[in-house]
Amino acid sequence: MRQQLVIVGAGPRGTGLLERLAANAPELYAGPGLDIHLVDPHPPGGGRIWRQAQSPLLWMNSQAEDVTMFTDDTVAMAGPVREGPTLHEWARLDGRTFPDRRTQGRYLRWVYERAVADLPPNVTVHHHPRRAVRVDGPREGRQRVWLEGRPDPLRADLVILTLGHLDGEPDAEQAELSAYAREHGLVHLPPDFTADSDLTALAPGEPVLVRGFGLAFVDLMVLLTEGRGGQYEGETYRPSGREPVLYVGSRRGVPYHSKIGYDWTGDRPPLPRFLGPAEVAELLARPAGFDFRRDVWPLVEKELGFAHYHRLFTAHPGRTAMAWADFEEKYAAAGDPAETRALVAAAVPDPADRLDLTALDHPLEGVRYASHEDFQEGLRGYIEDDLRRRHDPAHSPDLGVFLGLLSVYGQLVRLGDIGSWWHGFFSYLASGPPGPRLRQMLALSRAGLLRFVGAGMTVTAEDGVFRATSPTVPGFSVEARALVEARLPEPTVRRARDSLLRELHADGAAETPDGLLRVDPGDGRVLDRAGRPHPRRFALGPYTDTRAPGAFTRPRTGGPAFRQNDATARAVLAFLSGSLVKELAR
Ligand SMILES: Cc1cc2nc3c(=O)[nH]c(=O)nc-3n(C[C@H](O)[C@H](O)[C@H](O)COP(=O)(O)OP(=O)(O)OC[C@H]3O[C@@H](n4cnc5c(N)ncnc54)[C@H](O)[C@@H]3O)c2cc1C
Repeated sequence: MRQQLVIVGAGPRGTGLLERLAANAPELYAGPGLDIHLVDPHPPGGGRIWRQAQSPLLWMNSQAEDVTMFTDDTVAMAGPVREGPTLHEWARLDGRTFPDRRTQGRYLRWVYERAVADLPPNVTVHHHPRRAVRVDGPREGRQRVWLEGRPDPLRADLVILTLGHLDGEPDAEQAELSAYAREHGLVHLPPDFTADSDLTALAPGEPVLVRGFGLAFVDLMVLLTEGRGGQYEGETYRPSGREPVLYVGSRRGVPYHSKIGYDWTGDRPPLPRFLGPAEVAELLARPAGFDFRRDVWPLVEKELGFAHYHRLFTAHPGRTAMAWADFEEKYAAAGDPAETRALVAAAVPDPADRLDLTALDHPLEGVRYASHEDFQEGLRGYIEDDLRRRHDPAHSPDLGVFLGLLSVYGQLVRLGDIGSWWHGFFSYLASGPPGPRLRQMLALSRAGLLRFVGAGMTVTAEDGVFRATSPTVPGFSVEARALVEARLPEPTVRRARDSLLRELHADGAAETPDGLLRVDPGDGRVLDRAGRPHPRRFALGPYTDTRAPGAFTRPRTGGPAFRQNDATARAVLAFLSGSLVKELAR
């Protein structure tokens, strides 16, 4: 009797898991044969986000040299390392290129095909191009996975859910805005995957309010400009005449910081230093739990400050007034933020060289412009400064902070669900757009097709229109018949559009207060509300509370997602082999 494993979701995570199944099977799987059923309406490898059927204008937000699907000896895992090319090696690209999404999709497809080829001969993969709608079955017995449009379920000894980014039902505010739009003949596009949105209702020349200035905005901007036939000639945008006029704003009112455009040289900051495994263990051991702002953020600040000053003192000592060894000792001993500030004031003469995370987080706080046009000019200046700074190694403490952010991210993953604020802050500083995208923003702004609204943007639905205002330009408001929410949906397990997850929850699976699916941090087994791991159901990815970075792994960085994939693959293979031994003994 062949055994059956069902994996729902064949994007990067499902593919990475398959790679680990192939790597571990020779050691751990000795069964009569295994059928692996991959369920995904999109082709395996790229899955939904990296599929070939999408605009070639959409780019990755990673440089090609920073993307690998293969393990190396920095990954602390029980399974074997199987080395393979990074994206830039495979695609023969300059490592600093930001490839388009379809190129990454081809790499992922190749990884998928290699993993399938590497499986032992008695393991076979079948792809089912459908959605899975329900998993049921007894705790101790075979599971059934029901697919859309198929009367009979797949039978499964084990089920693994690698569902990735989910669509969500609109929350109360979004539902109200959509209802208002329907009543008044307006257009409202709620949070969605921009590549999948129907943008045809956004008419040429018409103003469109856009809430959100992150990566979803960049996709939207590209599809509504070059995607409608416009072209860049150097620094100038030549419109096609089919573009709407985008009025963009957000809480911060500025785009995410540009990607840094130079390489690291010299000594790396010795990280982690103030937020490492010991601090994480201490936080987790607190009987009353921890509060992010009170208990975790001060450690984050200390760590990022350490990374910043380490770089400033070692690479730009002329801009400091103390020896690094002295500073380091006093910095470590400083008990509270006031003491740290006093130390920094004494050791770093130019305030521009001091790290101020609060100011970075709110660049337009208290800033006022007399007119909308003045603000356009002002924000173009801000973006130009950011581009200059992010491409000038004289500001290399920024790169120190970037390494600090990566280190902190890796540690905070172990704390489980810490809410969404940190993820937004991380993305704003460390995961912003490639420089060329910001240059395109400048060109579109000069062409009058992109208009900045300001910080703390509010949108009202009144008088049959949407109206946006911001305290950045007192007295200014803009009316439009279209409103786009430029951000990804933030579904909770209960509000996921996906019936599979909702049913799993109804069947006893636990969720965190923030709506993430609770899983065993060891091997990814789905937990019930009593904290018991389900013997036959596993889940991995951004909708679970392990929240390993959703992003692709950089080579030689330990890869928490690889570690998790390996642990799950080994648990699955051991289970299948163990249950076989028991069945044979019967
Ligand atoms: C628009 C976008 C751009 C990104 N760009 C980058 C980037 O440039 N660099 C980077 O490092 N990271 C990027 N990311 C982060 C992203 O998390 C990872 O790149 C990666 O795609 C996550 O892989 P995944 O397999 O967990 O999820 P996904 O890529 O979402 O794949 C999940 C798969 O599961 C399938 N699925 C879900 N539910 C069901 C169901 N019920 N039945 C059947 N199939 C189902 C979906 O069709 C999908 O193919 C981006 C994310 C998004 C949303």
